[in-house]
Amino acid sequence: MNLTDLHGISEKRAASLAKSGIHTPEDLLMLFPRRYVDKTFVTPIGQVKGSNETVYVAGTITDIHPAGSGNKKRLEATVSDGTGVIQAVWFKGQDYFRKTLKTGKRVSLFGQARRFGRNISIAHPELEDLSEGNPQTGLFPVYPSNSILEKAYISSKLIHKWISQLLENYQPPEFLPVPILQQFDLPERTTAFRKIHMPSTSRDHQKALERFKFEELLLFELAVLYLKNSQIEQHRGARLDVNGDYVRSFFLEHLPFELTDGQKNALSDIKKDVVSGYQMNRLIQGDVGSGKTIVAFGAMLMALDSGFQAAFMAPTEILAEQHFKTISELARPLGLDVRMLIGSQNTATRNEIHSGVSGGQTQIVVGTHAIIQEQVQFANLGMAIVDEQHRFGVAQRAILRSKGQNPHLLVMSATPIPRSLAMTVYSELDVSIIHDMPGGRKPIRTAVRTEKKKEEVYTFIDNLIREGGQAYIVYPLVEESEVLELNDATEGFEKVSKRFPDFNVGLLHGRMNSEEKEEAMAKFAANEIQILVSTTVIEVGVDVPNASVMVIEHAERFGLSQLHQLRGRIGRGSRQSYCILMIGNQPGKEANQRLQTMAETSDGFKIAEMDLKLRGPGDFMGTRQSGLPEFRHADIVEDQYLLQQAKEAASHLLKNDPHLQKPEHQDLKKQFEPYLEQKKEFMSVS
Ligand code: ADP
Ligand code: MG
Repeated sequence: MNLTDLHGISEKRAASLAKSGIHTPEDLLMLFPRRYVDKTFVTPIGQVKGSNETVYVAGTITDIHPAGSGNKKRLEATVSDGTGVIQAVWFKGQDYFRKTLKTGKRVSLFGQARRFGRNISIAHPELEDLSEGNPQTGLFPVYPSNSILEKAYISSKLIHKWISQLLENYQPPEFLPVPILQQFDLPERTTAFRKIHMPSTSRDHQKALERFKFEELLLFELAVLYLKNSQIEQHRGARLDVNGDYVRSFFLEHLPFELTDGQKNALSDIKKDVVSGYQMNRLIQGDVGSGKTIVAFGAMLMALDSGFQAAFMAPTEILAEQHFKTISELARPLGLDVRMLIGSQNTATRNEIHSGVSGGQTQIVVGTHAIIQEQVQFANLGMAIVDEQHRFGVAQRAILRSKGQNPHLLVMSATPIPRSLAMTVYSELDVSIIHDMPGGRKPIRTAVRTEKKKEEVYTFIDNLIREGGQAYIVYPLVEESEVLELNDATEGFEKVSKRFPDFNVGLLHGRMNSEEKEEAMAKFAANEIQILVSTTVIEVGVDVPNASVMVIEHAERFGLSQLHQLRGRIGRGSRQSYCILMIGNQPGKEANQRLQTMAETSDGFKIAEMDLKLRGPGDFMGTRQSGLPEFRHADIVEDQYLLQQAKEAASHLLKNDPHLQKPEHQDLKKQFEPYLEQKKEFMSVS
């Protein structure tokens, strides 16, 4: 069946539809109403209140007359149904209605009822001639439109007419297996389309919509699972010794503190992975400060004990340097060869390191993405660790993995993502979550202050520094412009320097070269600088335990997750820490909610849930880069339970029929295959 077989679709209109992405009857059916006009009830006119409520009434025109003057000049028609009277009012198109409406005619009116003195009227009502019958009741779909459709005079009503015709003459193919429809109580496809396009109740419509959401989610979960299964088949990984000399020596003799339960659990997940004979693909999620580094170190030791090398990759040079320091310290008592590789090293140094890595003497390499450059050849890479995962794309992860022979991969993220979302987004990764924090830390106190209170805030900082503390003052990214951000921070730096003549004030921003950055950080770490004015470059990983105050300027411009990351820079030492969120005098409602959330909780997962709610999954994750699937009908946050059901169904299906070869799965397979091809490109991980 072709679209042009439908009454009223000419070649020309078919072309307009095609330009809007509607090529086939299936496409047309998939054009879901944007909303529905609720004409379920005809209200007796006597019961209309006139308080701006939308009403559907029907009656006979008893009078038509002009009224008002000047720009209030209008045409009024009085409509009566025996219970009361109401006025239909037109300011525009008066001539037309004067000609077409006659007293004695039966009509229905739909619109907003407003009371003016003793009269209730509906301005520019949707009017229907009832000379041929009673008013039609139900939910009436309103279809999305665009300029192409408008130009071709393809109205919502027309679309509805075509779809009704289509549903009478054409049966859209079902592809969900019957047992699944039964198990999850979902309507069959044709029925579901009927209820989307001509629902009688909103409950009906809900159930139908659920079916289409399920359909999408099932295909998605099938693809995830299918790819995962095929990966397990391909990617065998080396079995590691999880109880070797380095591991035992470190954990029994040199552990600097007792591990939290979360750290222990993460380590035991890792152990299970690396003895399985398959490549590990694990994401460790743990809030800032939850102690992920030592977990990573443990994983590296497992590789070293088995004669492999390990690589640890961080997103920035500052971070790489810090990790290098931490890891070198942990490694010292074990006598390991640990090297750092970053872009700003000179060629001679780099060459030397390259040869140590390719020769196999170097056991651990810590660095930036300099590590995944082509010249770097590992003798025997067995464990690759990626920190602060959200800065790395899927592709970079893949390159890192390709550096050895299927090295085990451990990804660490401090961006807490609600678990369900994480499983979907990082579908090729297993997830461990560290929920607890090392003990003995004092919770950070967070307050919101307006610009008017700036001097009070400064006095507060002044006192804390005199007691030996240090402070960060952070400026936001202004409209994605590094230059503006820089200006803000530079200006801030000058102001702050003037205000605190007794202290040393430093400046840190993304445009400085890595030596300058390192110098500023080193001075701050040594307390030669008491106040560090910075852009968001300190967002990730910077660790100066003596810094106990953070002032975030224009806090209303930051997203929740970012505020949380920033705040994680303090509260790392024994001092009570304070985070002060400075705002313009009138932040918007959403900004207010964000800042309130920050003031009330320090639980990264709660903050992430709130962030997700406020911004939606696309913005939260940065859809493009994150690999977050885009669905036409489903919403992975709102439709969690459907996602869960789809996952169950997918897993059950593939368990019984791994390649969808059974006859009863052929229709599903036909839908699934092209979908899988698309996904493969999107998710290509190895
Ligand atoms: P993350 O990378 O998860 O933000 P780190 O690994 O940098 O956290 O650890 C944060 C700080 O907490 C470090 O100074 C680390 O030495 C310390 N730390 C980690 N685990 C523990 C623990 N179990 N007990 C006490 N301190 C810990
Ligand atoms: Mg870290």
